[in-house]
Amino acid sequence: MPPKSRCSTLVERVHFKRMKTMKKLKGSKFAIVLFVSLIAISGFIISRNYEFAKKSGPQPVLAVSTQNDTPPTEERISDTVKQALENATNTTSIAPLRKFPYPFDAMLAISSDIDYATVEKFETYHQFLNTLEQTTHGPGVGLDIGDSAWFYVVNDSLINLDKEGHKVAYSMSYFQGLNPNFHKDADKIIKYYKEGWIDSLHSFGDFSRNDRSIQFTRDLAVAAWKAMNDSGFKPKVWINHGSESNVQNFGAYNPKNLFKYQAGDDPKSPYYHTDLTTDNGIRYVWNSIGMSQFSYDNPLFPIKLRDGRQVWGFHRYTHDVVNGKYDWTWETHELHRQITKERLEQLVQERKFSIVAQHLGKESAEFPFNPIDIQALQLLKAYQDQGKVLVARTSRLLDYARAQKFVGYFSVQLEGKTFININSIKDSVLASTTPTMDDIRGLTFYVDDPDKTFLLLNLTYIPKEQLQRNGPDGSSKKSIEVKWYMPDNVDYSKPPKKVTQ
Ligand SMILES: [Zn+2]
Repeated sequence: MPPKSRCSTLVERVHFKRMKTMKKLKGSKFAIVLFVSLIAISGFIISRNYEFAKKSGPQPVLAVSTQNDTPPTEERISDTVKQALENATNTTSIAPLRKFPYPFDAMLAISSDIDYATVEKFETYHQFLNTLEQTTHGPGVGLDIGDSAWFYVVNDSLINLDKEGHKVAYSMSYFQGLNPNFHKDADKIIKYYKEGWIDSLHSFGDFSRNDRSIQFTRDLAVAAWKAMNDSGFKPKVWINHGSESNVQNFGAYNPKNLFKYQAGDDPKSPYYHTDLTTDNGIRYVWNSIGMSQFSYDNPLFPIKLRDGRQVWGFHRYTHDVVNGKYDWTWETHELHRQITKERLEQLVQERKFSIVAQHLGKESAEFPFNPIDIQALQLLKAYQDQGKVLVARTSRLLDYARAQKFVGYFSVQLEGKTFININSIKDSVLASTTPTMDDIRGLTFYVDDPDKTFLLLNLTYIPKEQLQRNGPDGSSKKSIEVKWYMPDNVDYSKPPKKVTQ
């Protein structure tokens, strides 16, 4: 269902107010002056709202504010409300959760492995994906798409990474080769992590070898985590990489199948590191098992590691099955086979999550998209602009899926107002925690009167700038939500603009 026009309700309201005002002040010169001013002001408001809607995609249909609605202005919660919330036992009957942030009915991430990418290729395709700039490949699509990075590259392939003939050692990586004292692209990786174009770790590195030698050691993991803690480059998402030389991989160990080489979670192995990895903030793991299934009710599943720890695994769509054989679609120039109108339509109808795996920097071509792939991206953008599919970087999609499933909250009704206090993420795998604002972004509660509903986080009011009150959706229910992240289409590949006076 497309969202209802943002402008119609506002226009109707302004028109109604205008008619009332006209009746009251009929015959007075003062009324004429006031009426003209009203038209000017309301026209200005409408055009500003329209401009905002055009710029930033679907906007909430604002619930109608009433005169006697006096939101609590005190920063501290009153004793009555506090006591009521502390004693509350009610959650879902007063304020059930919507599956996705309003007005969306599905969420999708493109999750790209950084194999064979150079900084130049990475910047070129992310400028196109994340910004609305006029790029050398046409106008950018401005979607929230993150990427992965690694620390070490010792792949012994002889291929050319790009048209200039750069070899594998030129790959975008934090350190040069196996030397943690030699920073290669560390500054760029830290920068793009902080700016949101990187949100995943593609394991510690590319250790794939034709000679089948094993180059990974626990010391390399220790050095990587030291660099991560020093720099603040600390993704929550881990994505396994490559062949059986990549013994750092973990999460799918099975002595009876091809994943028997995975040693990252084996405390008896010299390649063990999941004590460091899970303690330092990795929440979500892609364990090397690709899926032909495109969408999920929830993409997370628990993984019990061999050291007794637990992490969340997540599913990625990687291939189709044709005549019983795997047809890998997670390759450069194959995006149009992954993202199709039929799949997006089904995703929306079934109200699901999808994480689409890719290797956007893998080919020697500078740009990973043919015109047909660009059409697929534009289609995806249209689904977002129409309020159907929210495109989110992998870490945000997974955080949302976790919060939506495990959020703990209580709600009470007092003197005609509804108060909802969010106080935990009851995560059975990573342990129950007290959430931060970013942990609960996008959570949307169905309520009878959003204008008279107030959201709290750990018994503190969430500021109104962080809330969004929505009119009825396709199910005719109104809602209130913790605002999703603002769109960010800044072209971070360009040097920052100088501020001129
Ligand atoms: Zn890879």
